[in-house]
Amino acid sequence: MKLFFAFLFGSVLGSFFGVIVDRLPLHQSIIWGRSHCTSCQHLLSAFDLIPLVSQIFRKFKCRYCRAPIPKLYLILEFSCALTFTLAVSHKLTSIQALFTLMSILLSAFDSRDHHFPLSVWLFFTLIFMISFPFHLVYLCWIVLALLAERFSLNIGSGDFLWFFTASFVFDFFHQMLILEIACFLGIGYYLFTKKRNEIPFIPFLTIAYLALLLVPQIL
Ligand SMILES: [Zn+2]
Repeated sequence: MKLFFAFLFGSVLGSFFGVIVDRLPLHQSIIWGRSHCTSCQHLLSAFDLIPLVSQIFRKFKCRYCRAPIPKLYLILEFSCALTFTLAVSHKLTSIQALFTLMSILLSAFDSRDHHFPLSVWLFFTLIFMISFPFHLVYLCWIVLALLAERFSLNIGSGDFLWFFTASFVFDFFHQMLILEIACFLGIGYYLFTKKRNEIPFIPFLTIAYLALLLVPQIL
């Protein structure tokens, strides 16, 4: 029962993450205002907002205008639900779960709009800085982020900021391992999709981080 409620609470949080991803770039309130279909603007009823269930039941289509609902919302709800379930079953520590949630949310922004919301990163990172031991060496990542803003380093400043927060979870060796795995995945994605535009890198960093975290436990 405890795991069921963890899954349920996680899916609700994932649904809220979907609201943040939708509204933050438009400078709309993430607390106030009822949810609506972004295609026909019809207000959604309680039955349209049940995490995971509504989307699957409606076959990923708005029931008013039949416009397709992006799978991103389902991925957000499921991954957050899974994170909470793993945390409650002690497969993830609180610091790992918190970093996973931050990475999921930043991945959603990056994959959809190639956007790195500084406010979201700051919100989570301040919690890390207040709650967990902080070492000055972590600031190297901030310096690299500032350099990436000034010069073209072929890696976004947001990716360096992600590593700054990752420093609270993994040591430098493991961070380099994450970078290697993410680069490998990114190259695979580039070759497979032949997409010539900018590749969102935070999702690959997140997958690499989760692989490093969970695979040793599974094996
Ligand atoms: Zn609609």
